[in-house]
Amino acid sequence: MEAAALSPPDDEHDPEGSTVGFERALVIDLLSQAEADVAALEAALERFDAGTYGRCEPCGRAIPTERLAANPTTRACVGCAQASAAATSSLVRATLKSGVPGSKRRPSASEPAS
Ligand SMILES: [Zn+2]
Repeated sequence: MEAAALSPPDDEHDPEGSTVGFERALVIDLLSQAEADVAALEAALERFDAGTYGRCEPCGRAIPTERLAANPTTRACVGCAQASAAATSSLVRATLKSGVPGSKRRPSASEPAS
């Protein structure tokens, strides 16, 4: 492979093209998603070996085959997944409403006021 193939194109000077930084962020995001997928598949294989694959972790009932076909790494039935999502979103709403203590940022004296 030639060295030119390994170095990114000089797209920082192309006003129409995306920047190397953007491409790098995109690749990092795809890589972290792929790593999360691999981890979920490995966890599913461990549950398969343990004989617990296809069983909903919160309620213990069998996860329907259709759901497993659509999402083979799922750990919850539709009902429990929806309950979990609703709990998470209400927690987020409560947090946004009350605010996180100490999260309000005041400009310090060393920063110029804009
Ligand atoms: Zn369940």
